[in-house]
Amino acid sequence: MPDCIFCKIVAREIPSQLVYEDTDVVAFNDQNPRAPLHALVVPRRHIARLADLDDAALAGKLALAATKVAKDAGHGESFRLVVNNGAGSGQSVFHLHFHVLGGRPFSWPPG
Ligand code: 5GP
Ligand code: ZN
Repeated sequence: MPDCIFCKIVAREIPSQLVYEDTDVVAFNDQNPRAPLHALVVPRRHIARLADLDDAALAGKLALAATKVAKDAGHGESFRLVVNNGAGSGQSVFHLHFHVLGGRPFSWPPG
């Protein structure tokens, strides 16, 4: 997708710190981390938002990759996954991504 920043990261057209990749999924550190661990897990193919995801296998791969990222960073016992869907929820990049956050306490409910 032209002009999609995460498509460009997946294509290595702009740099990022990759923490995981496989044939369908890429994960990289957030450029503005909100926790000691803050990675973004994205599908390689462009899907704008969670509400547009209709591939159950890919959904599972994203969840498993997110868990692996947390475990590999040493936060397998306490981490948080966040998906913002739509501008009203806080989504600012319209390429589906799971935020993986860890390494500090988290309050509930989220803001
Ligand atoms: P959203 O607000 O859409 O849920 O989250 C988008 C996230 O992408 C934000 O946490 C933001 O810091 C991150 N982000 C935006 N542009 C870039 C970029 O070019 N590189 C990286 N590594 N993260 C980015
Ligand atoms: Zn994209």
